Amino acid sequence: MSSNDNRLQMFQYIKRDTLDSVNIDPLQTAGLLTQAAKDALIEWGDGYSVCDYCNGALDLVKKPPIEEFVHKALPEFLGTDAARVMNGARESKFAVMHTLAHTAAKSGSFDNYVIMDGWAHYSSKVAAECAGLDVVLTKKPEKEVMPEDFLNAIETGIEERGKKPLLTLITYPDGNYGNLPDVKKIAQISHEFEIPVLLNGAYAIGRMPVSAKELGVDYITGSGHKSMAASGPVGVLGVCGEEAAAQLFRKSVHNKVKEVELLGCTSRGAPIMTLMASFPEVVQRTRLENWEREVASAQYFIKRLEDTGQFVLFGQQPHRHDVMFFEAPGFFKISEKVKRGRYFLYDELKEKKIHGIKPGLTKNFKMSTFGLGKDKLDYIADSFEEILKKYDEL
Ligand SMILES: *Cc1c(COP(=O)(O)O)cnc(C)c1O
Repeated sequence: MSSNDNRLQMFQYIKRDTLDSVNIDPLQTAGLLTQAAKDALIEWGDGYSVCDYCNGALDLVKKPPIEEFVHKALPEFLGTDAARVMNGARESKFAVMHTLAHTAAKSGSFDNYVIMDGWAHYSSKVAAECAGLDVVLTKKPEKEVMPEDFLNAIETGIEERGKKPLLTLITYPDGNYGNLPDVKKIAQISHEFEIPVLLNGAYAIGRMPVSAKELGVDYITGSGHKSMAASGPVGVLGVCGEEAAAQLFRKSVHNKVKEVELLGCTSRGAPIMTLMASFPEVVQRTRLENWEREVASAQYFIKRLEDTGQFVLFGQQPHRHDVMFFEAPGFFKISEKVKRGRYFLYDELKEKKIHGIKPGLTKNFKMSTFGLGKDKLDYIADSFEEILKKYDEL
């Protein structure tokens, strides 16, 4: 065998050494596949597998029941008039911004920029950049994003540019601290200026109850691989209002069944089939009583850590989400004394089979308690305490 053949061999079967750990990585806790999705992954894993059943428009495939999912179940779940399955939350945001850049911008009362909260995700900014729009952020929040911050940003934007922004984008919750801003109020403020509102619910849709109509937003985007137990890349996009939906899902002049913003077709094969397979369980877990249980579980864990006096939660209190951010002066002190330095925590947790805090972080870190339940959360809190105790004498 030549050395190149050897090199090729190494791509063939790659093991994942994090599979049997307790996972507290915010990116991953709500993206773990259900058994139904694992089965769908094998069944539909071949490339373009769904296309056997397609007549040119993915959202109209009857068997498997994609049409029923996209046109009935999904808009009902999101609280919107229309919805599509996309390749991710970012692709969904881009589609909205690109549409507005091409339609609303022509009306003359808008300028090419988007207002976002100071904690907006990089993918929101990149989506705007790719659509040719400037990004104007609200002031950096101290503890949480306030409706007044949006009002100020909108007024300043109009003053400086003479025209209003194409869109207001709210991150709900932000991906570092799990803070939930007052969307209703922010949307109301934005609508007073007749600016449409996009809710980036990458960390909300699939974890907690969210309805675009109830919150009063025009567009809503979610991430299947982050929060809807799908293998992905896959996301969901919902829109309120017939006119907005007709603009967003307008058809190509070159092919009358293909939607332009979707580049003709989005998620096909395993990504959409795993999303659909997990959907019944996702609907179940986002029911209010089940989400309340998640929140209670998050609060239980926060209290356990805060009771040690060695951890301080950053952000909203009481905390209302499974994503949380701690300052950990105890861990930081140890990292300054041990040989492994700031990597000691990662090593200690690895030994205890706890995965998800970034290597090198000690002073502060984010994590998620989603779906873990009391026993595993106790195990994590006990482990943190054991690690602190182990280095007590240093
Ligand atoms: C993860 C994340 C995204 C990106 O989601 P994709 O589906 O991977 O595009 C967007 N916004 C926030 C706040 C996120 O945390």
